Amino acid sequence: MNSEFDVINRYFIRPWHNTLLGPGDDAALIACKPGIDWAISIDTLVAERHFFSDVDPATLGHKVLAVNLSDMAAMGATPRWATLSLTLTETLAQDDAWLNAFSSGFFALADQYQVELIGGDTTGGPLNISVQIIGEVEREKALRRSGARPGDDIWVSGYLGDAALALQFQQQHLALTAQEAVLCLAALHTPMPRIALGKALINVARSAIDISDGLLADLSHILDSSGVAATIDFDKIPCSPALKNKLQPENTVKNTIRQLAIDCLLRGGDDYELCFTVPENRRDAITRLAQESGILLSRIGKIMPGKGLTVLGTDNNPLILKNKGYDHFSAQ
Ligand code: ADP
Ligand code: MG
Repeated sequence: MNSEFDVINRYFIRPWHNTLLGPGDDAALIACKPGIDWAISIDTLVAERHFFSDVDPATLGHKVLAVNLSDMAAMGATPRWATLSLTLTETLAQDDAWLNAFSSGFFALADQYQVELIGGDTTGGPLNISVQIIGEVEREKALRRSGARPGDDIWVSGYLGDAALALQFQQQHLALTAQEAVLCLAALHTPMPRIALGKALINVARSAIDISDGLLADLSHILDSSGVAATIDFDKIPCSPALKNKLQPENTVKNTIRQLAIDCLLRGGDDYELCFTVPENRRDAITRLAQESGILLSRIGKIMPGKGLTVLGTDNNPLILKNKGYDHFSAQ
């Protein structure tokens, strides 16, 4: 059975000639003018696959841009221009309240980053939204997935797993307090891209990716691109009090809840935090950056020579994991 990446790799990857970096990273890179490279990326949200059709249209407008800005953050790029391809059902095309809220949500985030919408395409069919984003980054300075080296520390920003936890909550697989639900649903619906962090990591981090498909899947992309292995400590992966609560030993009785929480943390996806690697001798720079920016930055493991990703549990034994992350063609 073809995975998402089998389809891409077998049918759509060709050598590139007029491009600094082609498919395989968070964005492609093109030399556009002296001293500046363009970072270009596209992401699509499909109704009932990436979001429920009855979702608040303002948050949908925010999210469809946020997931693209997150790829710019992963490259250390400053987002500048976007195009928007909208496929609308007949009902939505006539729903002025929906369109007004969707476009307001989109432009509120675009304005925050001075991103200009320069074009797009509008057509009829099942609700489906694509945004293409173009950003600028200093020549040859973009953060790539391929730069990790043995000995690098592995870092992640923010908390992981809350968006996936919110989805489990919405599907009534687990309960959250009202306060926990508000925070987790915000992580799911209105993620904030780590643009400033990505830019600050230029000349500091050796590799970076944004976590959209789950920590294990996305860190594995860094490992594959860089030709290295990694070990991470489960206990060091940053999570919110809500998620930590579900990991408590008493939840082993209700084993499924704890297992769900572990899955949310490791392979939940929709986090839009950054995972990056930094030489050990720049550890202080990251600590300073965390203090200055107020962003939680957690050191979760080490890059090693070899191949593969090991997650160590509390007892320092490797955790046995079934699946790495989200794949569009083998999702349960
Ligand atoms: P991300 O999660 O960062 O958005 P994806 O996992 O969607 O990245 O894609 C991985 C890489 O494969 C990206 O560099 C993307 O540009 C490339 N890619 C995805 N689909 C195609 C396609 N149909 N043709 C060419 N390249 C593709
Ligand atoms: Mg990405």
